Amino acid sequence: MKRIAVYPGSFDPITNGHMDIIKRAAPMFDHIYVVVSKNFEKNPLFSVEERVELVKKCVEELKITNVTVESFSGFIYEYAKTKKASTIVRGLRTTNDFVKEYSLFTYNYGLSNKKIDTIFLCAELENIFTSSSTVKEVVSFNGDTSPYVPSIVDQAIRAKKNKK
Ligand code: ADP
Repeated sequence: MKRIAVYPGSFDPITNGHMDIIKRAAPMFDHIYVVVSKNFEKNPLFSVEERVELVKKCVEELKITNVTVESFSGFIYEYAKTKKASTIVRGLRTTNDFVKEYSLFTYNYGLSNKKIDTIFLCAELENIFTSSSTVKEVVSFNGDTSPYVPSIVDQAIRAKKNKK
């Protein structure tokens, strides 16, 4: 049986922290679906379509071949079922993540009748304070986002700023 996983998130935008999780999870599974959730955030930096494209480009750049990038709205355990995935991958930074992630785990595990489990990969120390929301804050103050995101994303942020 193939080991298939899903890695869901908002990825607005994808950061070095997310990329580290993808890099480390990819060898653990036959296939991973990175799923950009269509949430209803008031001030997104990138549209869902733009995020999917950026994640695809970042994954291609690293030549990771067992990853598919898609978007989805709804319960992630339902998406996982349609992909025959039995595992959700999530990243853990601090105890704040743990509390939120534990609650998400109980929903996904319970609502899937204990068929979809979650594994957690701890953030590398250098990424522990990197988050999409802090990147957005840096953007709002016209700061340099290059230390926190892949260069493709940094370029896309610059291009967006120049358009405004
Ligand atoms: P959310 O799903 O809450 O919108 P994100 O899209 O930011 O969160 O992240 C998706 C997943 O990646 C979550 O499990 C989150 O904890 C994890 N993650 C986010 N940033 C990092 C990071 N810097 N290092 C490791 N994991 C991270």
